[in-house]
Amino acid sequence: MLLSRFPRTTLAHLPTPIEPLPRLTELLGGPKLWVKRDDCTGLATGGNKTRKLEFLMGDALTLGADTILTQGAVQSNHCRQTAAAATKLDMKCELLFENRIAEPGDTYRNSGNVFLDKLFGAGIHDYPEGTDMDLAMEEMAADISAKGRKPYIIPGGGSNPVGALGYVNCALEIINQANEMGLRIDRIIHATGSAGTQAGLVTGIQAMHARIPVLGIGVNAPKDIQEERVFYLAESTADYIGAPGVVKRHDVVANCNYIGEGYGIPTEGMREALDLLARLEGILFDPVYTGKALAGMIDLIRKGELSSDETIVFIHTGGSAGLFGYLDQL
Ligand SMILES: *Cc1c(COP(=O)(O)O)cnc(C)c1O
Repeated sequence: MLLSRFPRTTLAHLPTPIEPLPRLTELLGGPKLWVKRDDCTGLATGGNKTRKLEFLMGDALTLGADTILTQGAVQSNHCRQTAAAATKLDMKCELLFENRIAEPGDTYRNSGNVFLDKLFGAGIHDYPEGTDMDLAMEEMAADISAKGRKPYIIPGGGSNPVGALGYVNCALEIINQANEMGLRIDRIIHATGSAGTQAGLVTGIQAMHARIPVLGIGVNAPKDIQEERVFYLAESTADYIGAPGVVKRHDVVANCNYIGEGYGIPTEGMREALDLLARLEGILFDPVYTGKALAGMIDLIRKGELSSDETIVFIHTGGSAGLFGYLDQL
């Protein structure tokens, strides 16, 4: 598995640290909890999309693109990191927002990630909920091409086999760090949304025969749909890196019991998790992804569904810039 075969541009501060969470571990009475600090990837307050963008923007540069298009929710962390990456590489960036939250309020619409998108000079385009966003990007790309520019479309969340390479790379990084630190990892837990993070991780771990189970905690779709999405992308990612068939259906596990009323809608568990980690460990989490994933992990530990003998690494995928967009709701 030689990732240097694929076009890549440097955007992230790597490797990100793996740090212990001693006070949370003590409060919960085990398992031994560690955090992989992918909130510290460096670009524009960091997050998991930066790893994907190293390969996506590498591909865009190879194809001679000068304008990047992508889409997401209004408070998308992916859009914020894409806007910053495009600016750094001297490309234009067009962000297409789907208004998934009813009556979002001024703070949600203008603060947090949106404020940063504008600071990076991205073009912002609003669409009503239920719009076919992929089609909207195709149409905008056709307009841009007609004007003689070269568009490059990044799917929502940067989740395709090219973007997932960023998390194949993260799997290699984690295994290297664990070997150097003498850390015996029994399980990896993280938030799963557009599927690229989990697909890349599972592909990397299986291709390395590392036998570490990965649990994705879902933030939008029901379990069967989420697992199918991740598995489909993991299979195509494995094909793309030249390791077809390394991922089996049972390697892909998601728990989607902590979504609450829906994507981006706060839950009590999320609020508790944000407070706990801020007050015990001095780490910021986010309301849409990592807060709900932590709430899930904490609940599973309290119910005894995760053994207290285990060593668990929680991947902090970023998102704390979104906190400011949720001020009214927190
Ligand atoms: C996008 C995102 C995720 C989910 O990653 P996917 O690859 O979309 O599944 C998790 N956490 C944060 C903070 C994100 O922005």
